[in-house]
Amino acid sequence: MPSRLTMVSGIQQLLTGERADPRAAQALFLVPLVVEFFLHLLPPESFDTDFAYGTAVALVPTLGAVAIARGLLASRWTTWLPVLDIVALGLYRMSDGTAIGVAVAFPAIWLGLQFGRRGVLVTTLTVLVCFVVPTLAKFGFTTAAFSRVAQITLMALICSAAVAMTAEMWKSQVELTRKNAARLEHALTDLIEQRRLTRTIVNGVDVGLVAIDEHGVYDTVNPRHREFMRLAYPQGHAGHAGQAGFVYDEDGVTLLASEQMPTTRAVGGEAFRDVLIWVGEEPSERRALAVSSTPYRRNDGEFAGAVLAYHDITELVQVSRVKDEFVASVSHELRTPLTSIIGYVDIILEDCEDLPADVRGYLVTVQRNARRLHRLVDDLLSTALHSVTKVLDIDRVSVSELLQRSALEAGKAATNAGLTLELDTSQQREELFVHGDSERLAQVFDNLLSNAIKYTPRGGHIVAALTQQDGQAVVCVQDTGRGISPAELGEVFTKFFRSSSVLTDAIPGIGLGLAITKTIVDAHGGEISVSSELGQGTTFEVRLPLPDPRSVPAA
Ligand code: ADP
Repeated sequence: MPSRLTMVSGIQQLLTGERADPRAAQALFLVPLVVEFFLHLLPPESFDTDFAYGTAVALVPTLGAVAIARGLLASRWTTWLPVLDIVALGLYRMSDGTAIGVAVAFPAIWLGLQFGRRGVLVTTLTVLVCFVVPTLAKFGFTTAAFSRVAQITLMALICSAAVAMTAEMWKSQVELTRKNAARLEHALTDLIEQRRLTRTIVNGVDVGLVAIDEHGVYDTVNPRHREFMRLAYPQGHAGHAGQAGFVYDEDGVTLLASEQMPTTRAVGGEAFRDVLIWVGEEPSERRALAVSSTPYRRNDGEFAGAVLAYHDITELVQVSRVKDEFVASVSHELRTPLTSIIGYVDIILEDCEDLPADVRGYLVTVQRNARRLHRLVDDLLSTALHSVTKVLDIDRVSVSELLQRSALEAGKAATNAGLTLELDTSQQREELFVHGDSERLAQVFDNLLSNAIKYTPRGGHIVAALTQQDGQAVVCVQDTGRGISPAELGEVFTKFFRSSSVLTDAIPGIGLGLAITKTIVDAHGGEISVSSELGQGTTFEVRLPLPDPRSVPAA
């Protein structure tokens, strides 16, 4: 007799359609049979030949089940076991005084379970052959005989079909569960790989990374940031945002208070980019870090924490400092001789009244240009570019005249460079006046024209045009030069920007002209824009607000 566990696993195997251990199913079938057997033995006269045949036939599938389970018989014979069980029951049924026929439910269930619809068909056919034929043969075609076999057949059919349907549903459920489990496992593997990849990136990048939760507790710190933390907190860090340490403001000397720390601001939900701080106790070892913070939120939109990135920009800051120092010292060196040139030219022009007219004219040009040069050197000297506009000498200025003068001077340089320069005022015959600093505005036009000349190859054409639109004086400087790539166009007004093609071709310049130009235009309440096509040319457009005509006295 198989153990209980073997039976359970046998039934499970039957349910899941795997190769079943037939001993479990056969053992279940044997239970009512054994009971019936003993009941029949008690009054020995009821042990008739049909009962003996039935018992003999029932032994065959029992031995067959054991043989299949032990591998002595191929498992494909399993189908025959419940069929033989039904045959045995049919024989029992022929015996008098036994109700064992109802045990047909067991093989019917077995067949339905293990072989599904096929099992239902086999059950029905076998029951018909084994029960109907003998019963009708024994009792004749009577209503009672029909009723007996109909009951048995119907019961076997219902049992088998019900179990077959349940088994099919079960199997599809099991299949679904299997598929879901496989999908989950796949997702889990993906997740693990993703985590591994993320960890590799986080640990490998040359940027300090910290993830902080909404309470300010450090969640993740990558090795690069640990180095920064060792500098800022040589005594150790408690893993909570806002700990005071050797963390300094952008000046590199003012210690940051806890509430000013980037981590504190990040925990407050603030998003920021490139906040400059310095870390380190020893001034010589201090590092400059550009800190950015990105808050992250839960699905419901609640703040869940922040990720902070720390870029080490010490070298960059030092290079920038060196550049500023270099520019400052070069400008200072230039300023002294320039002051002297301007002074002497002023003296000559004031004191020497008998100068020939053409010489006086040349000297006036020298004086004007030397003064412009002096201003430019002053701009270079001042690190804060906006200071150039702090001392605007505002007056009523003729843009038409300024542009004409700049174009006249640029014309000579253009001719020398093999270019043609055209001043187009055809759209604006009347003189246009603005409130502004004439020297500064002249500087704007000079810069744009000199750039157009500098960045246009021989044979090119430059047009300086003046128009009036929407209450603004519009000056356009258009060239047919080398142009600027779309990727670099947005940077042209940035301090020290020089396009890559200009650098490659080693065209001299320092990249300050347009930054100064924009600052001056902005200070006049105007706008400057640029459009360009690489290899085709560039157009700069300056818009300066015209004063309200009612407030301008008639010229
Ligand atoms: P600089 O001329 O000294 O380099 P600017 O600030 O005047 O400095 O110009 C910045 C950069 O913008 C130049 O180096 C050049 O690459 C680009 N640029 C300016 N004007 C033009 C132009 N008309 N055509 C093409 N590129 C220009």
